[in-house]
Amino acid sequence: MKLKGIVFDMDGTVVEVPYDWKQIKEELMTQGKPILTFIQSLEEPERSEKWKVLEKLENEATLKAVLKDGMQELLDFLKEEGIKKALATNNSQRNVSFILNKFNLEFDYVLSREKGLWKPSGAPLLFILKKLNLKKEECCVVGDSHFDIKAADEAGITKIFILNEDKKNFSSTQAEIFKTVIDLKERIKQILETEE
Ligand SMILES: [Mg+2]
Repeated sequence: MKLKGIVFDMDGTVVEVPYDWKQIKEELMTQGKPILTFIQSLEEPERSEKWKVLEKLENEATLKAVLKDGMQELLDFLKEEGIKKALATNNSQRNVSFILNKFNLEFDYVLSREKGLWKPSGAPLLFILKKLNLKKEECCVVGDSHFDIKAADEAGITKIFILNEDKKNFSSTQAEIFKTVIDLKERIKQILETEE
């Protein structure tokens, strides 16, 4: 495989954001469904009310976002290597713009939830691959959660890199788990060095 592109998740992956997803799901009463799918399935006026609650929580959390240690170096490295960088997030365009501006980050393609393609579906990843003219085998996914793994699986992308402290939580998956962005960068370097 020649690595030509990486699709990053945003929250928890590129930036640390203080989300308490368990509490948010309780507050929205999502009944175990993915949040966006759940809200979109509701009738009005409940749907708009729940969107408002979610947006408020997301906007508050986004203001507290911190760039992950080593992320800028990784993105610079990928740029030097000519590897395409994309962002696929279930967050809103407003919050994506805030994060990209705040940390002065550049991606070749950014997909936010307004497109209507949401993880854990593989659709947002496939959409990006098409836009960047990349094959599944040429890409890897970098995320921080089981949502990212599910999406990559569904899209048929087999190289899945997860940034997470809790390795055990991912032991049943084929994803490679990294504690730090520095470790992830080393792995990517290794891939680039061993390919033809
Ligand atoms: Mg995430």
